[in-house]
Amino acid sequence: MRKVKIFDTTLRDGEQAAGGALTLEEKLEIGRQLERLGVDCIEAGFPATSPGDFRAVEMMCQVVKDCQVAALSDAKLPNIETTGAALKGAVAPRLHTVLSTSDIHLQHQLRISREAALEMAVAAVKLGRRLIPEVEFSAMDAARSDWDYLCRVFEATISAGATVINIPDTLGYMQPAEFAALVAYVMEHVSNIDRAAVSVHCHNDLGMATALSLAAVKVGAQWVECTVNGVGERAGNASLEEIVMTLKTRADYFGVETGVRTEQIWRSSRLVASYMGFPVQPNKAIVGSNAFAHASGLHQDGMLKERSTYEIMTPESIGRTDSRLVISKHSGRNAFRNRLRQMGYELNEDEFMRAFKAFKEIADKKKDVTDGDIEAVVADQVLTVEETYRLEHLLVTCGDPAVPTATVRIATPDGQTHQDAATGDGPVDAVCRAINRLVDVPNRLSEFSVQSVTAGIDAIGEVSVKVESDEGTFIGRGASTDIVVASARAYLNALNKVVAARRDRESGHARVKLSQDGSLRADSPPVASAEPVLA
Ligand code: MN
Repeated sequence: MRKVKIFDTTLRDGEQAAGGALTLEEKLEIGRQLERLGVDCIEAGFPATSPGDFRAVEMMCQVVKDCQVAALSDAKLPNIETTGAALKGAVAPRLHTVLSTSDIHLQHQLRISREAALEMAVAAVKLGRRLIPEVEFSAMDAARSDWDYLCRVFEATISAGATVINIPDTLGYMQPAEFAALVAYVMEHVSNIDRAAVSVHCHNDLGMATALSLAAVKVGAQWVECTVNGVGERAGNASLEEIVMTLKTRADYFGVETGVRTEQIWRSSRLVASYMGFPVQPNKAIVGSNAFAHASGLHQDGMLKERSTYEIMTPESIGRTDSRLVISKHSGRNAFRNRLRQMGYELNEDEFMRAFKAFKEIADKKKDVTDGDIEAVVADQVLTVEETYRLEHLLVTCGDPAVPTATVRIATPDGQTHQDAATGDGPVDAVCRAINRLVDVPNRLSEFSVQSVTAGIDAIGEVSVKVESDEGTFIGRGASTDIVVASARAYLNALNKVVAARRDRESGHARVKLSQDGSLRADSPPVASAEPVLA
């Protein structure tokens, strides 16, 4: 079967949408998960836009070994140079350069002629090829470009050395049959197309991103650009899980396969949703919480008799087991460790002990502990940031009528504890106000959301907060059966990221440390090349 390759841009197009709220550690964790998922290329950022993006790409090149690492650049030559420098440590680097080809963009945004744009694209690709052996050229707004001009640009950029040409529907404007015709037209009319692979990049403004991408695959596109959970600019990108599972479920129709290990999809989805602070809608295809839930009696009856009556793919095929834990609160460390290993987690000893302690607390409160609960607990205990402030004690009173009041005690690394109290509009507001009295971190809480991990009144609540500060925007997470406790943890988690970013900026050093096997470890020595490059 023909192989279709997956180019994941969760960390570039998706990260654009998240407002740059991911920490370097979180980007690297997502990168490692994407590698485990088996994508063919990870686009890690846009190095010329900021020192943070440069460093994220540079570090990704050190961490990821089993697939290509790409970085985006506009067509300005100094930015191509910067992008090449960021990629130089990668095993398989790809320089991705982009320039608009539609008259609307050329006239109103770039204010240059078609000829000038063509020359710029050629110059960008030529320089890119001198730096990096694999160069992708994207014709931004290709979908609204003149088809013959578009073909001329592709022909010229392939002559200049582009190894991949990308046809984006940047604004999610096209319809599937129309887009398939465009891709087929390019493949037919670009004379040297045999020297480059054809890629597509679709957006979801009209809800068509997956359909457009698949229509392109059907007529021969070799690469599909997409993101986990479909995150991305505006309405988002084509969703990786929808494309991969369609190609797998309908291999009879498409006659192609991908290299994605589908049983890693669920975990990838959970990780991206949690780190980016974008919850997945319950009815989302493939990864929504209800995607495999059968509600009607007729369907349930069929499922009990024979699963294939109402199931075109299994939850197990995306790594979603929903199995009840065979271990209970009476289980020991080894049973818990085994379960984590089966679920694919590799924790260091400190993380393991914290996760085990949290598991015991949950098992005391909940009758059934599910894999979903374990995931939430582990995510909460695996530290992606140094814990400058740790919640030690929390007491909240509220009611009707009553003035919500919170007493908070926080521990700091010097062994000291600090305590204060505050009132607020509600219990969470009171907690945040009490915390702000204790910590010296000017901030504004701009988003707050609570999601339940599993069904039932005793479900674990996962709280996600977005905090804006002078150091940037950060997302904090916390999980607990008590949502006020989860809120306090989430808020402190975000504030710890602000403090870490401040410390990072002041010292000019990366906080991420790699051990010899490439895994992220807090106790190993710093990497020598982690100096700020664009300072
Ligand atoms: Mn895009």
